[in-house]
Amino acid sequence: MSCQHEDFEARVYVNRLTRDEGGEVYAYHADIRVKCAQCGEAFTFPGFANGISSHEARVSIDRQVLGVPLKPASQDHFEFFPGFDVKQTA
Ligand SMILES: [Zn+2]
Repeated sequence: MSCQHEDFEARVYVNRLTRDEGGEVYAYHADIRVKCAQCGEAFTFPGFANGISSHEARVSIDRQVLGVPLKPASQDHFEFFPGFDVKQTA
């Protein structure tokens, strides 16, 4: 009998971005993974472009890691950082 995927485990890693090692944090970026807590099967995030972006969610090539920009709620300023998109070719 196959797993019904009724319970989940999510991991969120929040990255603090600096221009230099130990330097001032100018942006935050979170990586999110979800898997079934019962069978361990990884879940994927369909519908997002591949890559990394400072202003939109992007997904890893295997679609198992959703990367999203984030900032403290009290912070009005939002600094963009260089990202990239991965285009698939036929
Ligand atoms: Zn499962």
